[in-house]
Amino acid sequence: MQKKNKPLLFDPFTTRENNQKLLKQKAIVVWLTGLSGSGKTTLANALQHFLLQNGHITKLIDGDELRSTLNKDLNYTQQHRTENIRRAAEVAKLFLDSGVITCCAFITPTEELRTLSKTIIGENDYVEIYVKCSLEECEKRDVKGLYKKARKGDLINFTGINAPFEVPEHPALVVETQHQTIQECLTQIYDLVRLRISVK
Ligand code: ADP
Repeated sequence: MQKKNKPLLFDPFTTRENNQKLLKQKAIVVWLTGLSGSGKTTLANALQHFLLQNGHITKLIDGDELRSTLNKDLNYTQQHRTENIRRAAEVAKLFLDSGVITCCAFITPTEELRTLSKTIIGENDYVEIYVKCSLEECEKRDVKGLYKKARKGDLINFTGINAPFEVPEHPALVVETQHQTIQECLTQIYDLVRLRISVK
């Protein structure tokens, strides 16, 4: 004899709305832009950690990580930089549509590329943060040894040395990692996103 289906206690359709209700959060994409070594990965990690501790579901998409996996076929020409950002934004959008708060750390050196990511993600869900730090300081930090390589001529199209970085025109927030501690930057970022992710 066939068992009768019990009525479901939840709406079975995994729409963004339903997911957000279940996860008790609103999803956004926090897009960190800035020079290599400015602090994007550090702050994206710190934000993700802080949000997780406060009961949120998050995903960090990091430029370096994506370039060694999904985007390992891409180089640093203008065409490939565009494709790098297009794919990153499309991946971020998938997480966004699942109700996940998504932090993206990508140099995103030009206004054209930032407009591309904003367009793919959607203006209402896109929160751009300029991680500001002088080239001199980034070069002094040289976290990955890339500035040294670029100065020696071993890297072409390296942002800040032999490829341009355009200062973002309309960021939602600027954090100055040269003058502020990680905690201070994180507080500023959290103050901005807090109301955007709250369901109340
Ligand atoms: P990016 O992802 O932009 O290439 P990283 O986050 O990998 O940069 O490196 C930034 C470096 O700067 C780290 O060593 C970090 O500890 C240091 N740093 C110093 N002050 C700050 C700050 N306020 N915010 C973020 N990083 C900072």
